[in-house]
Amino acid sequence: MHCPRCGSEKLIEISMRLHSEDDVTFRSCHACEYKWWERNTDQYAEQVNLDTVLDLATVTRTA
Ligand SMILES: [Zn+2]
Repeated sequence: MHCPRCGSEKLIEISMRLHSEDDVTFRSCHACEYKWWERNTDQYAEQVNLDTVLDLATVTRTA
């Protein structure tokens, strides 16, 4: 895995499972401090923005 901005391999990775079936991974680059999120499904991984992550993490409570 490389930083999409500077190509460095020195990345911090934090993976977490949300209430949905998807995993999301937060990555931060040591070299240029670029930060991004990836959403990992069974089929593919895609880069997502923070709003999408928050949507996935939001638990909708029904009365
Ligand atoms: Zn970088």
